[in-house]
Amino acid sequence: MTKRTMLENLEPITKPRTCKVRTVMDSLDTQDRETLAKALADPRWSPYALSLALEQRGLALADKLITRHRLRRCSCQQLGK
Ligand SMILES: [Zn+2]
Repeated sequence: MTKRTMLENLEPITKPRTCKVRTVMDSLDTQDRETLAKALADPRWSPYALSLALEQRGLALADKLITRHRLRRCSCQQLGK
């Protein structure tokens, strides 16, 4: 049996360029996904307020990510979604 070195398998974590908003949406069931999609499209929801409301429901989604998704600066665009 070979002795394992301490730093075996040390590799940089490559972040997948996926939009967190989409990841969260994909994890929801159809009804919740529609609700979230509507909230994202609703200008009455500020990104901060929406982020807080989601957090209270157990979904971590930073307001910055919501803003980026709304401004279409996220990876969803590259994926044609
Ligand atoms: Zn997105």
